[in-house]
Amino acid sequence: MLIDSHAHLDSERYTDDRAAMLTRAFDSGVGAILAIGIGEQAAEMHKALDICRQFNGQPNMPRLYASAGVYPHNTPEIDEAVLAKLDKLLAEPEVIACGEIGLDYYHEGAPHPVQREGFIRQLEIAAVRKRPILIHCRPKDGDTDAWDDLLEILEAWWRPTGLGGIMHCFGGGWEQARRSLDLGFLISFAGNITYPKAQPLRDVAALIPLESLLVETDAPWLAPAPHRGKRNEPAWVARAAETLAELKGAETPEIAAATTKNFARLFRLRADVGN
Ligand SMILES: [Zn+2]
Repeated sequence: MLIDSHAHLDSERYTDDRAAMLTRAFDSGVGAILAIGIGEQAAEMHKALDICRQFNGQPNMPRLYASAGVYPHNTPEIDEAVLAKLDKLLAEPEVIACGEIGLDYYHEGAPHPVQREGFIRQLEIAAVRKRPILIHCRPKDGDTDAWDDLLEILEAWWRPTGLGGIMHCFGGGWEQARRSLDLGFLISFAGNITYPKAQPLRDVAALIPLESLLVETDAPWLAPAPHRGKRNEPAWVARAAETLAELKGAETPEIAAATTKNFARLFRLRADVGN
């Protein structure tokens, strides 16, 4: 069984075939999916939870979990009502994580101080609700600016909680990976690890201990080779696991078992975490 630790199941790109897409995932060995609750804007944070409730309990479907959070470029939308909604969502049993939250200095969007302030406000709520966090971090090309700020904030504000989290769609170097591991984070790799030009990323992945790895799709984005450019879906999460297996000199089922165990440990889920 594989767990897709990060998929945007509420994307409009699944409107016409969401149930069939989930069944394809189940048929491909995906036992559970963490549905990311950021919507297109903060007002849509609840949509991932709605999808969980719609499909959980149906036959031939992966077990679905949800997150909720305000994406870095949506942080200007944060007000007391948004924070109250986030707090309420994080109290729901299916909403096991706060995210994806973090810093994005790559795309033009929310001013960096607004991103940092919004990030910290959400860390405070996640800490009270005892929810691990899902981190999105993207620096400017050729820079580590967002990583430097992010890790400094986490080391000051998040380390004391002991809750940990996931570095989603990891794209940093060894220094960023090492500091993330030191914070007790799991490091999740998406389909981009399969791309021909991603050798530096594969070199970093090869150094990360098995007990700190996760796989994800970030669907509908980042379709793995050989589907690159198409709409991605959780059924294809095995491609990232196969690449990690090659890098670790392991078999894909070993990677599947390890990443499933890591996911269950982080979120304190029972061993039968999936369907
Ligand atoms: Zn995402």
